[in-house]
Amino acid sequence: MIPFNKPYLSGKELFYIAKAVESGSTSGNSFYTKRVHEFFNSNFNFNKSLLTTSCTDALEMSAILANIKPGDEVIIPSYTFVSTANAFILRGATIKFADSCENNPNVDVESIASLITKNTKVIVVVHYAGVACNMDPIQKLCIDNDILLVEDAAQAICSKYKDKYLGSIGDLASFSFHETKNIVCGEGGLLAINNKIFEERAEIIWEKGTNRSSFFRGEVDKYGWVDLGSSFLLSDILAAYLFAQVENLDDIQNKRISIWNYYNDNLKELSNNYDISLPEIPNYATVNGHLFYIVVENEDIRNKLLKYLKEKGIHAVFHYLSLHKSPFFKDKYKGSTLSNVEKFSERLVRLPLYYELTQSQQDYIISELALFFKSKL
Ligand SMILES: *Cc1c(COP(=O)(O)O)cnc(C)c1O
Repeated sequence: MIPFNKPYLSGKELFYIAKAVESGSTSGNSFYTKRVHEFFNSNFNFNKSLLTTSCTDALEMSAILANIKPGDEVIIPSYTFVSTANAFILRGATIKFADSCENNPNVDVESIASLITKNTKVIVVVHYAGVACNMDPIQKLCIDNDILLVEDAAQAICSKYKDKYLGSIGDLASFSFHETKNIVCGEGGLLAINNKIFEERAEIIWEKGTNRSSFFRGEVDKYGWVDLGSSFLLSDILAAYLFAQVENLDDIQNKRISIWNYYNDNLKELSNNYDISLPEIPNYATVNGHLFYIVVENEDIRNKLLKYLKEKGIHAVFHYLSLHKSPFFKDKYKGSTLSNVEKFSERLVRLPLYYELTQSQQDYIISELALFFKSKL
């Protein structure tokens, strides 16, 4: 079986984990955490980074920083992972779901604009598959209406919008190191704080609502409870695991992007002959090899294709079910039909993509896709 995903291993993970354990400093904000923070700040132009236990937690920190209270509205794409919405619902926000673009699962600017009211506090964008959303017009909407911009950059490491790294544009941004992402540590995340007004408070919320970080820097002579907070810090054992991955980030990215390009080049002919769309990459965006998808004609063909590939030993999968139609939300949803989101929910198929995937495995996947479409029609 060709799995859908296989987490990358550099080989140095256990070595750094052992060093962290032997050092005796295994709680958060220790040696490896600081090295990973420096890596992100210097490579991606983040003003400040904080490693968290997950991207979900980084989003929850964003909701606390945004001072979300009941009655506040947050605009979120419906085509995303549940955490993008849950983080804000936990603080009492009313969620307004936006549609995707017609030819790209990313959020549509017009759809966002139509949902803005005087109660809109935050717009969250999700760079699906690591491909940038159309940030200039979204940023303008935020500035004109005094709205905070949060990037859910869980899938977007190393990718750019024009000349800016994703995660460096919004007031706040979150990344994930879950085992399904480009670099991993089991469970882990990072909050990038680009707007300086959140710098000090982010550190306090991260440290359970205390000013422990300033205490350790010698800025105050004792530390105590000063704000809301939780235990959002990543253990340094997991930061050590992650450090072994960031050291090899260039190699990981080169490999993943070449796998992505190979699919894209070798599926062109099939997409010309049958009703299959390949990812559309806008000219302001880059590819980071996070995931490769195709969009087929309808849900029935999608299901038959997944079943066929499984019989051939290939694990391909669909992706998000639209959040506005989820069991948790559908009775609360008062907005309009989001037809593009529904299209991607029903018709998108993700193909295996991981560091160790070989070219002969890719050739096999591509030839089975071709056989499926030729025999079906
Ligand atoms: C993976 C992912 C998350 C959740 O990340 P965790 O680290 O598992 O909390 C959130 N949003 C998006 C878009 C994701 O892809």
